[in-house]
Order: sequence, then C-alpha cells, then structure tokens
Amino acid sequence: MFQKILIANRGEIALRVLRACKELGIQTVVVHSTADADAMHVRLADESVCIGPPPSRDSYLNIHQIVAACEITGADAVHPGYGFLSENAKFADILAAHNITFIGPSGDHIRIMGDKIEAKRTAKRLGIPVVPGSDGAVTEEKEARRIAAEIGYPVIIKASAGGGGRGMKVAHTEADLEIALQTARSEAGAAFGDDAVYIEKYLEKPRHIEVQVFGDGFGGGVHFGERDCSLQRRHQKVWEEANSPALNAEERSRIGGICAKAIADLGYSGAGTIEFLYENGEFYFIEMNTRLQVEHPVTEAITGIDLVHEQIRVASGGGLSVKQEDIKFNGHAIECRINAEDPRTFTPSPGTITHFHTPGGLGIRVDSGVYSGYKIPPYYDSLIGKLIVHGRNRVECMMRLRRALDEFVVDGIKTTLPLFRDLVGNADIANGDYDIHWLEKYLARGE
Ligand code: ADP
Repeated sequence: MFQKILIANRGEIALRVLRACKELGIQTVVVHSTADADAMHVRLADESVCIGPPPSRDSYLNIHQIVAACEITGADAVHPGYGFLSENAKFADILAAHNITFIGPSGDHIRIMGDKIEAKRTAKRLGIPVVPGSDGAVTEEKEARRIAAEIGYPVIIKASAGGGGRGMKVAHTEADLEIALQTARSEAGAAFGDDAVYIEKYLEKPRHIEVQVFGDGFGGGVHFGERDCSLQRRHQKVWEEANSPALNAEERSRIGGICAKAIADLGYSGAGTIEFLYENGEFYFIEMNTRLQVEHPVTEAITGIDLVHEQIRVASGGGLSVKQEDIKFNGHAIECRINAEDPRTFTPSPGTITHFHTPGGLGIRVDSGVYSGYKIPPYYDSLIGKLIVHGRNRVECMMRLRRALDEFVVDGIKTTLPLFRDLVGNADIANGDYDIHWLEKYLARGE
C-alpha cells in the first residue's frame, strides 16, 4: 500500500479523495494555487504545496510543478480526481518515469480512449455496441454525404479530440451537411488543436446511460451497474441516478457483462466509465472516460462500495476487494450537482458564501469543499457541491430528496438549488420519463 498520496485537484473531489486516504491510513499531500490557499482540502491535508498562480495552466495543469511537489514531499502516488490532468496520458507516463504511481489506467489506455475515433474502433473490436457511422475520420464532403445517406439523417459530426460536450454539430438534411462539417472541423481545430471529425447517426430521443467498470490490474474486470445521466444542459450532466429508471435487471446484467468482459480483454486497470446512448432498447457506445466520474457517489450509494478505496487498492497492486457476485444493487440514489450559477441563465456566480447549511439524516450525503465565509474564486468550475440521496426505492429517494433540498441553505451567491426544487416536483421526473433533450426543452419553456 502507498505511504503518501498527492492529490492533484481541488474542490469537492480533492476532499473526497482525501477522506478515502485518511480512512486507509495513508498520508496526504495536496497541491493548490494561490487562489485556493483557504480551501478546505488544504486545511485538512497532512501537507500542502502551493504550485502557482490562479490560472489552471499555471497550477493544476502544471505537470512540472506537480512532479516537483511529489519529489519534495516524497509522495509515492498521485490521485488526479476528475478534470485537470486526470485524462492526460503524458502526465501518467511522466509519473511512471519518476517511479510515482498514477492512480488510474496506463498512459496507453488513456491515449486510446482520449481519441474518440480510436476509442470507438476499440469498443467495436471488444464487442461493445456502437452508434452507426463513419469508420474513421472524415475530411471530404463527398465522403460525408455518402456516409450520411447510408446511415440516414439526422447525423452528428463530432470531434475526435472532443470533450466536455464541445465540437459537435448536427445536420438534419443533406443541405446542412457541408456547413456542419466545416464548422465542426474549424471549431475542433481551434478548441483542441486537432481538426479530425467523424460522423454518426444522431439519435433523437436517447437516454444517456453509463456503466461503471473496474479493471483489477490482474486481467479481470467487473461492472458496478449503470447511472442514468440523461438530464443535461449543453451536454453537461445536471442530475444523475442509479439505477436507471429505464432499465430492468436483465438489461443491466447484459450490458454490464459486455462491459466487464471488454475491460478484462483490454487489460485495463482501475476505474472507468463506458458511456452509451440508449434508445428503443438498444445501447450505442459514445465514449469511455478513464477516470473517476463526478457522479460516482450514486453508484457508491446503491452498492455500498467506496470506489476511491478500490482505485487506490488496484493502483497499489492489491486488486479489488470485491468480485462481480459480491456487487449488489440496493435501492435507488440520485445526485444533484449544485453549481454557483444563476438557476435560469446559468451565469456563474462567484463570491462569498455568507451562510452554508447542509441537510442531514438517513440516506443523505453532501460532498462539498465549501463552508460559511468561503469565497468562491472566479477561476474554476462552478460546481460547489453534490447532494446525493439514497432510498429503498425511487419513490422514497425522491421524497427524501425533496426534503433535503428544502433544508439546504447557501446564502450570499446564486446556486442551482431552486432548479432542483422545481425538478423534484415535476411529473415527468417523478415518472423517470425523460431523455437527453428533456431539460433543455423544460428550460426553454421557462416553467
Ligand atoms: P463529450 O466527450 O464532449 O462529453 P460525448 O460523445 O460523450 O462527448 O457526447 C456528449 C453528449 O452529446 C451526449 O451525452 C449526448 O447528449 C450528445 N450526443 C453525442 N453523440 C450523440 C449522437 N450520436 N446522437 C445524439 N446525441 C449525441
């Protein structure tokens, strides 16, 4: 087991990882920018190292400084959290070259999955169902027209290097195709420095369902069931559930089994998420994330298993603490992402939190790094906390969620809490009847 883990992140996820390390008796080092000197993860860690000024590229993305912080403090492993360097293959390689363990998969696996064209090809080879579309990158309009006609409109043009919902354009008819191809390529080039794009069938009413997987580091793979993340705004997840209200136990074990086998065949190590669109009873792979996800707590709630403990165990060579048959799904869990944003316009609302009171009681978990008097810096993501609620079934979970949202107080800044208070009373949400476009349409109606 590791002696000392350096946490290369900030906010709620830095605290989340820190808690797991403390439980396992591992010393913790956190790195932080000058803007985060007062952050909770800095206060609670055994050691902290300031690695630079506020902009992420000079601090949380500064590989040099992070490696130096490991050397200075003698950390033998790094947990990257999510975002920042968590899916940076070069970072994983550099740490390995310094004999520091990256708590995540190999650089090569990160590289394959970070290139969406390569990821899709790999998924197909491993027997994972994919969205019909081009076999690789598409550059010529003529070729794009041929493929689109073959799979049928509407189609979506996606950037191979895409991420965070960026670099996607939909073409509803052949007349839209040329412009969609051109804009997608130039946006991808500008945003990611790589203008490779590919085409796939645009699914009109899918749900976003993702499977949590783990490679044990010895060639074995398991799945921890799925999460339904269909409630999205601008392709960003807002509300997540486990299990999905749309799947039955048989479908769950079928898609889970396919994913677990694929992970084993790939020789993958650590946590991963295989994301699908789900429509008319069919799954279509869209991408794989090679890290811990923001929404992992809903899986923890229904399985009772700490996924960060498992990540640390696997990375240290100790394998998983559970086998597939030990992983049971109990009840239902929902996570609401609480952002420091206007609940209607979603404009960021940094500033000082004058009062912060979190709900409690049976089945309630709040993962947050903020506190009364904390000043939210304007430089980073606006996620300030996650409310995760568990119940014996979805009805009980929703009842408890409504009560917890009523109890939650965040004064001094705007947050997305009022949006969740509205959603929890909505009939479609109560029925679990929504697809990936539901929230955008709801917001556009201004209810
Ligand atoms: P990113 O890495 O940028 O998040 P994804 O490939 O995961 O990109 O897609 C993000 C979101 O975009 C999906 O959750 C879905 O809402 C939408 N999307 C992606 N591909 C398709 C598709 N083929 N049809 C319909 N919607 C899609």
